[in-house]
Amino acid sequence: MTAPGPAACIIGWPVDHSRSPLIHNYWLKTYGIAGEYRREAVPPDQFEGFVQSLAARDYVGANVTVPHKEKALAYSLPDDCAQAVGAANTLWIAEGFLHATNTDVEGFLNNLDACAPQWDHGLGNVVVLGAGGAARAVVYALLTRGVERITVVNRTAHRAEVLRQRFLERLQVAPWEELNDRLGDAGLFVNTTTLGMAGQPELDADIGRLPGHAIVADLVYVPLTTPLIGTARARGLRTADGLGMLLHQAVRGFELWFGRKPAVTAELRAVVEADLGPSAGQRTGIT
Ligand code: NAP
Repeated sequence: MTAPGPAACIIGWPVDHSRSPLIHNYWLKTYGIAGEYRREAVPPDQFEGFVQSLAARDYVGANVTVPHKEKALAYSLPDDCAQAVGAANTLWIAEGFLHATNTDVEGFLNNLDACAPQWDHGLGNVVVLGAGGAARAVVYALLTRGVERITVVNRTAHRAEVLRQRFLERLQVAPWEELNDRLGDAGLFVNTTTLGMAGQPELDADIGRLPGHAIVADLVYVPLTTPLIGTARARGLRTADGLGMLLHQAVRGFELWFGRKPAVTAELRAVVEADLGPSAGQRTGIT
């Protein structure tokens, strides 16, 4: 059955875990917009056909998640941001063309702006842990804010080097074993790896080495308070968590598809926190 208003979806494989339907349907209801946001489980070999038939399926656009984010560039008109990051997470149809962008970039920045205003003033070095897709978005985001020095630390050195080659500008790479040594002058430390996520190994970083003015950001949002965020808060450092980024990255897609810029509110956050469940919030151990 066709929705009474515009419809968008999230395309992934698997896609059951995604909180995007909860976020977008909350906004649709809050603003009284007749529309719908659905999940679409699409295996890799059917992705091209699916995105190319988005309009025929009555979709005005879509989010794209694992494992399709890189592939989405090939079947759309990516903007500068998506091209620079090498991945897209938001698609929309305009004048018959499928456009793409990467809203992880603005989601990361807007969350930091909200959690730690003026975080980019006199920042000095930024340490980014990880060199995957999320790290590319974070590094690009930092460069757009004129961050002077970024040190990338990744378990697989080669991947960090590939990231450096991609952005060159103001980027250096340090070996995994040097992580703690690199924290001493870091104004911002960002975890873009899966370490600290429920079911994954813990992140073994000595947060005590960070200067007192440092800010800690974690992209992981299950648990809500990762050990990294919990430790940083216990030290009195400013933090930006993964759920905040997830909410902020959703804003532009909603505006593009449904015509209204939605607000990231405490109420929305509480709705998603409740859905993640108490176990997501409980794991607040200090490492
Ligand atoms: P990805 O491309 O697969 O990259 C994973 C990264 O984690 C790589 O740097 C990998 O290192 C590292 N890693 C994984 N297991 C490790 C281990 N045991 N020890 C050390 N390093 C390890 O994934 P991604 O797309 O970048 O996503 C990374 C995280 O960001 C995920 O938790 C994802 O949910 C989160 N994320 C959150 C948001 C948000 O809105 N909050 C948005 C995007 C992504 P190697 O290169 O050595 O394998």
